[in-house]
Amino acid sequence: MNILVINCGSSSLKFQLIDSGSEQCIAKGICERIGIEGSMITYTPAGGEKEKTVTPMPDHTEAIRLVLDALTNEKTGVVKSLEEIGAVGHRIVHGGEKFAESTIITDEVIAAIEECNELAPLHNPANLIGISACRKLMPDTPMVAVFDTAFHQTMPREAYLYGLPYEYYEKYKIRRYGFHGTSHSYVSKRAAEVLGKKYEDLKIIVCHLGNGASVSAIQNGKCIDTSMGLTPLEGLIMGTRSGDIDPAIVEFLSHKEHLTVCEVMNILNKKSGVLGLSGNFSSDFRDIEAGYLNGEENCVRAMKTFCYRVAKYIGAYVAALNGVDVICFTAGVGENGPLVRSLICEHLGYLGVELDRDANNRRGEDMVITTKDSKTTVMSIPTNEELAIARETVRLIK
Ligand code: AMP
Repeated sequence: MNILVINCGSSSLKFQLIDSGSEQCIAKGICERIGIEGSMITYTPAGGEKEKTVTPMPDHTEAIRLVLDALTNEKTGVVKSLEEIGAVGHRIVHGGEKFAESTIITDEVIAAIEECNELAPLHNPANLIGISACRKLMPDTPMVAVFDTAFHQTMPREAYLYGLPYEYYEKYKIRRYGFHGTSHSYVSKRAAEVLGKKYEDLKIIVCHLGNGASVSAIQNGKCIDTSMGLTPLEGLIMGTRSGDIDPAIVEFLSHKEHLTVCEVMNILNKKSGVLGLSGNFSSDFRDIEAGYLNGEENCVRAMKTFCYRVAKYIGAYVAALNGVDVICFTAGVGENGPLVRSLICEHLGYLGVELDRDANNRRGEDMVITTKDSKTTVMSIPTNEELAIARETVRLIK
């Protein structure tokens, strides 16, 4: 069965058509600048040429219509008709405490997702627009919602509560939710599979290091802690996000720089992280890595601070798990950045981590990057959130 996976943002929409039998991607692409002048769709059928078409997309319904046209196009399409699309899987950023699992989309589910909008005002409304556009154009096709937060719902109370007056949790549900859950779940399961071990028997730490970055601790196949919080701003230093800071900095900066809270939050989300630390040099780890290797002080500073924070979280999660069997790196930097992986592993001598330099220099494949004698196994596992969403979709509609 072919599953259409949709990841809808406020002005963009990424899609993949996946054959659930072979688990191969048959076609993929992205609609950009939806509702803005100069909108375009990029479409790539597997093994075919990438096509870019600039065309008006006043709204997401039009974007989905163009996606469906591309998939069924006589020349470059990959299916003959929409009937060959068995189901749609939607990535939803925030499921709050309501969704600890993926779910078939119904009117009630849509209403419950709407109730979580407050917790992710930039993402959830866009995700819902994607659902409603698909429902208009494919009214009889079953649809499934897969939540970024769901995998982390197994965290115990002591891991998800903040040290705030408890009434704010009761009134507003202010707590740690965590994100990238689909990736943390996929990668940890894949690690067990590659090692030929039972998932439920392992203590696993997953470091999802991309432009957004988070760490999670998984015990007996369940997430027990993760570094992102109420929003994706908490935890690691990221491409442009600050990660953990003293909350008093918000007031301090606002006072010194004459900024509103909103303006300070904008700095923490968009101008901080390795971009800010490198003195506005770049948020892209390829640039930071190149600068580091050239000995450029701003890049050395950004890189070392980023890696130290990851190592510190690993240490915290070794404590939370009371030990660790496997540490996995994934996402853009985790899969492709031997330098980042080795700088982080330099902090892990106490775990008996011995890096295999040759293995660590490879990229983009499932692999163990430690030696046979290493006391703790470290792996690099490419994440595949779209495949995980397609799998969940098939599981639910069956
Ligand atoms: P993601 O958010 O998972 O797409 O990851 C994006 C990040 O991965 C960007 O900062 C990229 O610079 C980084 N990245 C991608 N390829 C490489 C590479 N070959 N070496 C280092 N970083 C990379």
